[in-house]
Amino acid sequence: MHFALLGNNRIEAQPKLNGLCSCCSKPVIAKCGTRKIWHWAHKSKTDCDNWWEPETEWHRTWKNNYSADWQEISLLNKRTGEKHIADVRTVHNLVIEFQHSHINPQERTSREQFYKNMVWVVDGTRLKRDYPRFLKEWKSDGISEVHQTDKSGIFKVWFPEFCFPEHWLKSSVPVIFDFRGDGSMDDSEGLRNTLYCLFPQFGRHARVAKISRKAFIKATTNGEWTLRVLDFINEFRIQDEIELRKQQQTMPHSSNKIIYTWRGIPLIGGYKKNRKRL
Ligand SMILES: [Zn+2]
Repeated sequence: MHFALLGNNRIEAQPKLNGLCSCCSKPVIAKCGTRKIWHWAHKSKTDCDNWWEPETEWHRTWKNNYSADWQEISLLNKRTGEKHIADVRTVHNLVIEFQHSHINPQERTSREQFYKNMVWVVDGTRLKRDYPRFLKEWKSDGISEVHQTDKSGIFKVWFPEFCFPEHWLKSSVPVIFDFRGDGSMDDSEGLRNTLYCLFPQFGRHARVAKISRKAFIKATTNGEWTLRVLDFINEFRIQDEIELRKQQQTMPHSSNKIIYTWRGIPLIGGYKKNRKRL
């Protein structure tokens, strides 16, 4: 953890300091070695927050884009007594979780249900294959641009599992992929510096927006983020409705589900199956 309680103050780890965990109130000690980032650790094994993962420089750099008062906020579900530490919670009640480690879909869903108004920021450099896979698909015709708004373009991604790690595809909240890592990797095309926001998916294709780091931090800080995401999602629903109506006019006996086509071929069944066929 970045902060512990010392009296009434939240303080950062410094050599030889002791403090209390802001979540479970148990004693924590400052770990200030050379191998890992300076942090606080529980003195004894505890079941404090089972969602907590050891922090990397990547986590810390991201969290420090936000005010210290917004970092590591303990949140309690009064009904169940469940308590977790949000990486960042803004004054507008948006939770931002920075995820480096693998997360299984059940835990991802539990966290989304617990935090509700949240956005994931995922380290897209955890596995060696993550970025090359994204790059290959992003440059292929598996992506088509639908419309461009003032700053961020929205892209339709027909085969999202060829683009992003599969366990993020069914997320019910936006997932931001950050492929920059610690900034040391080759980025001759300048694609790593942009963030890629995968919206919750309905229909057969995923929608992705490119957003600059600065714009993301600004929108999440000033509270515009949640409304903008809702606007986009409403627009996606309207687009899907229009597509469905068009389909029903041309094929009156078709089902009430949209049959998406790609290069004129109906996409029925799984993506992977279709991709192979194409
Ligand atoms: Zn604790």
